[in-house]
Amino acid sequence: MPAVTVDDILVLPRVSEPDPATTADRPVLSVTTAPAGLEGEGFPVRRAFAGVDLSQLDPFIHMDQMGEVDYAPGEPKGTPWHPHRGFETVTYMIDGVFRHQDSNGGGGLITDGDTQWMTAGGGILHIEAPPEEVVVRGGLFHGFQLWVNLPARLKMTSPRYQDIRAGQVKLLSSADGGALLRLIAGDVAGQQGPGVTHTPITLLHATLSPGARLRLPWRQDFNALAYVLAGSGSVGAEQRPVQMGQLAVFGPGDVINVAASQRQDGGTDTLEILLLGGQPIKEPVAAYGPFVMNTKAELVQAFDDYQAGKLGSIPAEPSHVTDEPHPGHDVL
Ligand code: MN
Repeated sequence: MPAVTVDDILVLPRVSEPDPATTADRPVLSVTTAPAGLEGEGFPVRRAFAGVDLSQLDPFIHMDQMGEVDYAPGEPKGTPWHPHRGFETVTYMIDGVFRHQDSNGGGGLITDGDTQWMTAGGGILHIEAPPEEVVVRGGLFHGFQLWVNLPARLKMTSPRYQDIRAGQVKLLSSADGGALLRLIAGDVAGQQGPGVTHTPITLLHATLSPGARLRLPWRQDFNALAYVLAGSGSVGAEQRPVQMGQLAVFGPGDVINVAASQRQDGGTDTLEILLLGGQPIKEPVAAYGPFVMNTKAELVQAFDDYQAGKLGSIPAEPSHVTDEPHPGHDVL
């Protein structure tokens, strides 16, 4: 699993262990298993949030784990051009290459630990697909896409695109050096990740060595979720077992507990887990297909506006999107 990693985790800034005397561990409210599905032109996904009430996910709406899949030559797939309105998409690639292009001029390649952050706001069209070379060659494809809601006052904000290179991700070590933390957005333990969000969130990808434990301070005013990308372990002080494809929802408190099983199997020797939370927006959600609004009338308006071409137009070829590999990447 490439993502971004380091040779010596001990040189990284360490997150100090929260004092058990003055902090409260967040209890685990539920553990759910993501059902498998197909997205876009038919790439395999796990619907991470299926079966969980939106009020517990708030400010998040939806998350797909993409893959992990090892494609044969000719198999890699993406999405056709499609619209969005009313939220932000965060796409993180662990393995493989995805190309993004949108009607607002945003776009680029992401691979091996890169993140792309797209604010759809009032409206955008975009396409996400593996580049032609990757389609021909096949290979590993693994990542996730998260939908972050926008409050009513920002639903119609201007579209925005952020490229977060793997090298910009803030790397941290757990107190005992057993876990590598990749802080993609927001802050944790006084450290700041590179992603800029309209809605305050914290998003990190942690890799835990077998048997490692992580007690991580977590803002009280944020919700807290953990999703297992690979491997097995436990969540909460109560050590509730979790494995690949499972989501844990935590209750109130100010510390998240995660631990990796001593024995890992299923092709990984580490626990790969996403930890995420944000400030709940606490507004009504009307979501349908590619639109996330507050009311049904706004959804109807979004469809009308899309059909009238008001959400943007597909850029003419050749696009200005660069197909150049980024420094430090030798994928293409
Ligand atoms: Mn999309």
